[in-house]
Amino acid sequence: MLFSMRSLRPLTIAFSLFFLLPLSLSAATTPAAPIRKSCASGIALQVSPGPAVQGSLLLVKVQSKKALPEIKSEWDGKPTPLWREGSDAATLHGLLGIDLELHPAPYEWKVMWTDADGTAQSCSVLLAVRAGKFATEHLKVENQFVQPNPEQEKRAAEDQKKMRAIYDTVTPEVLWTGKFRLPLKDVTTGGNFGRRRVLNGQPRSPHTGVDFPAMAGTPVYASQSGNVVLAEELYYSGNTVVIDHGYGIYTLYAHLSAIDAHAGDKVSAGTEIGKVGATGRVTGPHLHWGLTIQHARVNGMNIVQRQP
Ligand SMILES: [Zn+2]
Repeated sequence: MLFSMRSLRPLTIAFSLFFLLPLSLSAATTPAAPIRKSCASGIALQVSPGPAVQGSLLLVKVQSKKALPEIKSEWDGKPTPLWREGSDAATLHGLLGIDLELHPAPYEWKVMWTDADGTAQSCSVLLAVRAGKFATEHLKVENQFVQPNPEQEKRAAEDQKKMRAIYDTVTPEVLWTGKFRLPLKDVTTGGNFGRRRVLNGQPRSPHTGVDFPAMAGTPVYASQSGNVVLAEELYYSGNTVVIDHGYGIYTLYAHLSAIDAHAGDKVSAGTEIGKVGATGRVTGPHLHWGLTIQHARVNGMNIVQRQP
């Protein structure tokens, strides 16, 4: 949520840093094409050739020659929802979010279903998650944001509880339409995602969003359609708006000088929801933009470049 001019650099997606490891291979590979795996019952799994690196996301598909049975999906042992797009009954889509602090190791994407004769089936792909390359930076902020007093600590804990309840909610509906876009007009360079942070000499949790430099008062737009689920001041992120896009996909806009949305509002991509500011724990005016996919904190630039 912090921003320093010095630390900004063009955001590059390091495609060379990743590899995906299908279960059947013993050596690491860097596929240029999607991974495909044929399973029982004419079902096939597909994983986009994206970087399986901390803070990124992968697009997945389950395809079948005939209409699909009811399918359950898990990523790293946790349920991850799949959805249909349009009238195509033979394909399910999903997004696997790789949290920026997920320990680098192989993780399983597994799907399960029951055949018409009652046989329980499952099929999985093992994906080797690699460490992201995140710089460490030292910043100076107001001391109350590094050593909050008991009252401030209580507020921050309540905020955290509220955010957890939001992210625990998976709306089983595609609320997005078309592509995700950046939340500011004319500002295309954001940075700082994943940076490990030392504040006033003390190590703190990593930076979970993308910071965009902008003047205070610059309009901030919803990057995708959805439902506003939070529009209020929080201790660390200042004036904050959170939008539910369905299926556990949320965007967050922080440090706003003004909020122009209410919890419960339905917004479209491009709806103005507030103005850039410097509220909460900041070093200056900027927009902090977060993307969460089923609890995984991922780099929002990935969803702009790679659509669900
Ligand atoms: Zn930030």
